[in-house]
Amino acid sequence: AGQLEGKVAVITAAAQGIGRASALALVAAGARVIATDVNADALATFADPRIDARRLDVLDGAAVDAFFAAAGPVDILFNCAGVVHSGSILEASDQDLDFAFDLNVKAMVRTIRAVLPGMLARGDGSIINMSSVASSVKGVPNRFAYSTTKAAVIGLTRSVAADFVARGIRCNAICPGTVDSPSLQQRLRAQGDYEAARAAFVARQPIGRIGQPEEIADLVVHLAGATYTTGSISVIDGGWTA
Ligand code: NAD
Repeated sequence: AGQLEGKVAVITAAAQGIGRASALALVAAGARVIATDVNADALATFADPRIDARRLDVLDGAAVDAFFAAAGPVDILFNCAGVVHSGSILEASDQDLDFAFDLNVKAMVRTIRAVLPGMLARGDGSIINMSSVASSVKGVPNRFAYSTTKAAVIGLTRSVAADFVARGIRCNAICPGTVDSPSLQQRLRAQGDYEAARAAFVARQPIGRIGQPEEIADLVVHLAGATYTTGSISVIDGGWTA
């Protein structure tokens, strides 16, 4: 039996990358996991009976409300959905920024609004929000829209933590450095010279390698059960900001 036995966890963007690794790790720690993603085909590749895979587009407020109304009690919410927009302020259109806010920030507002009344009724809940070191933690070149929105995630996390700390709710953010995932592979290939792009990403991680999704998932499991931790901003970046 794991430390999260009897708990129910909902994850957004769970079909691949950090979300997927976290679904597997939470299950290994004993939780029952509802793994959601907009990509139903990728979700269909989960084989574990303790993982209930369901399509959910976190941009769709009505769908988010309907999902949580039907989900039953949720103990752990991991808001993992997010998109990387590359470029400086000069390359980010209003539409780029609006989309980044919608997916990286407002989607979390939607899921937290939907899950919080049930958590408050039971006086217990752990919310984990995906930020990044590219945020208020560190200025990273060509990540204007991304960093702006990931900094907002830190603000919203601390705000929720402060408002509900006395009522059994914990809310924490995680700030990874560079992590190997399908979308990272896409970004590397998009640069033309894959090996050079990968070497540049490795070079900025003082630990000498890119992080693995499972390493971030360990932190998600820890925060899910860390009963004295709230409002924390956990940097997990291979020493990038050390
Ligand atoms: P990824 O980018 O490879 O996968 C993202 C997943 O999100 C996909 O399965 C996709 O289908 C899903 N998704 C996209 N739009 C969605 C929507 N509207 N509703 C529901 N799901 C949707 O995964 P990743 O690289 O592990 O990134 C996951 C999170 O971690 C993101 O928030 C990202 O910003 C953050 N992050 C990643 C890194 C990294 O280096 N990979 C570093 C720091 C933070």
